[in-house]
Amino acid sequence: MVTKKKNIRIVVKIGSNVLTRKDGTLDVTRMSALVDQIVELKKSGVEVVLVSSGAVAAGKSEIKTQSKLDIISSRQLYSAIGQVKLINHYYTLFHQHKSVCGQILATKEDFSTRRHYLNQRNCMEVMLDNNVTPIINENDAISVNELMFTDNDELSGLVAAMMNSQQLIILSNINGIYNGNPSSPESEVIKEIDTHKDCIDDYIQTSKSSAGRGGMQTKYNIARKVAEEGIEVIIANGKKENILIDLINSPQSIEFTRFIPVNKKVSSVKKWIAHSEGFAKGEIYINKCASEALLGDKAISLLPIGITKVVGDFEEDDIVRIMSEDGTQLGIGKSSYNSEKTIQLIGKKKVKPVIHYDYLYIEK
Ligand code: GLU
Repeated sequence: MVTKKKNIRIVVKIGSNVLTRKDGTLDVTRMSALVDQIVELKKSGVEVVLVSSGAVAAGKSEIKTQSKLDIISSRQLYSAIGQVKLINHYYTLFHQHKSVCGQILATKEDFSTRRHYLNQRNCMEVMLDNNVTPIINENDAISVNELMFTDNDELSGLVAAMMNSQQLIILSNINGIYNGNPSSPESEVIKEIDTHKDCIDDYIQTSKSSAGRGGMQTKYNIARKVAEEGIEVIIANGKKENILIDLINSPQSIEFTRFIPVNKKVSSVKKWIAHSEGFAKGEIYINKCASEALLGDKAISLLPIGITKVVGDFEEDDIVRIMSEDGTQLGIGKSSYNSEKTIQLIGKKKVKPVIHYDYLYIEK
């Protein structure tokens, strides 16, 4: 039984490696155990949004192709077959508890404009309001190349921010982030990471998982970003029995890595902007004085007087990167002018901001 938790919303991301056996087939026993736990969490008042990988892995074992396919075609084929299988299992497993789930397949483009973004959010909100568990995966069959998420870790970070969740739990097949090679006996799981103080870049293993696309590097990058938006992030082992219940009821009894959420309120618009970097159409370079002002504690908009250079071709309302003089990215924002007009305004005083504070996300 889970200790009663009220008004908590969490996003749980389950990686392909959690859901597949060594031989690459779908581990339905594991799926079943995780669904049991999700249903139990729901009964205790926790709202759960599920981001589940596993489509490509599930599809691979279903078909032998006549000829060797290229990477894109095989991903499209396997995911088209595997997603049906994956969601079918989820449907049956939730149904056994008389609980309803629904599927959302997303592409990166679905998050590109504020309108698309709000449509997605509305869809998930209405599902949660009706006690339906949203199960989200990337639409691998149609999202290829530049339309792709780096992996489902990136998608889960976006969903956690979009849904204003209190926690993002990323389930992988290891216990968390280690301070060395996870297979070495001297290595230990880093229990807590304070993104402002701890720099653990050297510890991150760059090797990728065998079944999914992600690796520890993207998990770490996403976890940092999401924690900076005030959401607690947990990286834990989804292959451990009872992991979701233990994380809530007895966290002291298990190993995992926790990213301390930064204690700040980030508006929903700023969260959208923070995750829109992939859609940036240009760069705005600013001088030292403007950099210092933006990095300070005051609510400041970016004025033309602080701009030194504009790179790229963008329209009004496009997402742009804000860069310091030395080329370091300071943040992301929505531009009030197109690139041509911004260039004309460089150095001008008493004009409306190029990026208003409400549409500005500074990474610090
Ligand atoms: N969406 C992919 C799948 O379901 C997995 C992507 C990832 O590995 O993160 O198979």
